[in-house]
Amino acid sequence: TLSQKEALAGIRWNEAGLVPAVVQDASSLEVLMVAYMNSESLQLSLESGQTWFWSRSRSELWHKGGTSGNTQAITSISYDCDSDTLLVKVVPEGPACHTGATSCFFREIPLNNPTTDASKSVSSLTDGERFAVLGELERVIAEREVERPEGAYTTYLFDKGVDKILKKVGEEASETIIAAKNKDNAELRLEVSDLIYHLLVLLQERKLPLDEIMEELSTRHERPRRDQY
Ligand code: AMP
Ligand code: ZN
Ligand code: ZN
Repeated sequence: TLSQKEALAGIRWNEAGLVPAVVQDASSLEVLMVAYMNSESLQLSLESGQTWFWSRSRSELWHKGGTSGNTQAITSISYDCDSDTLLVKVVPEGPACHTGATSCFFREIPLNNPTTDASKSVSSLTDGERFAVLGELERVIAEREVERPEGAYTTYLFDKGVDKILKKVGEEASETIIAAKNKDNAELRLEVSDLIYHLLVLLQERKLPLDEIMEELSTRHERPRRDQY
């Protein structure tokens, strides 16, 4: 492996002495934002452990979160095959976007060719993206519990308390069974989604992180013990 000095010497800065940096959430793997770094901002990022960029519009060094408080703690920095783009994995303190959105990439361009549109196919998701859906849902549920936005269904569940959440888990489990018995996969898709959502609300209420479930499932995967089921 390269030393930090060797790695830095390999970076191919553009004509303006900049390199684009893709910022990614280290746990959900969601792409949060893209900004430019010059050598000084990369140095500051490495020294401080938080993201620093070069603002092209303001021609100045920019400490992400310096005014908003939404700093990003760096867990790794990589560069791509031809050394012209950085990938910065972070644990964000808050939304990456100045609009308040978690990610800057919230505006989607609709696809129009149905033969190449893989968006409706589950198999188009990578393993990372599949997990990211659950991680993002867990994060939103945790946010709802703290902020309790008026009119949100999750707020309603937390306000009602654990017994209501348990009742919903039971109901959704029953509805899942009925949909499966009816061999109705359109319905099953909805009911299993409802069940998983309510299970995540339950985990949040009980303060049991989804990570622990994932760890439990992965150890079972290594040493299958069917008698546990
Ligand atoms: P912050 O770095 O979050 O304290 O925000 C300071 C300023 O940087 C904002 O007023 C925006 O002009 C700009 N800014 C913050 N986040 C972004 C972003 N993700 N993309 C582009 N500009 C940003
Ligand atoms: Zn490249
Ligand atoms: Zn943005």
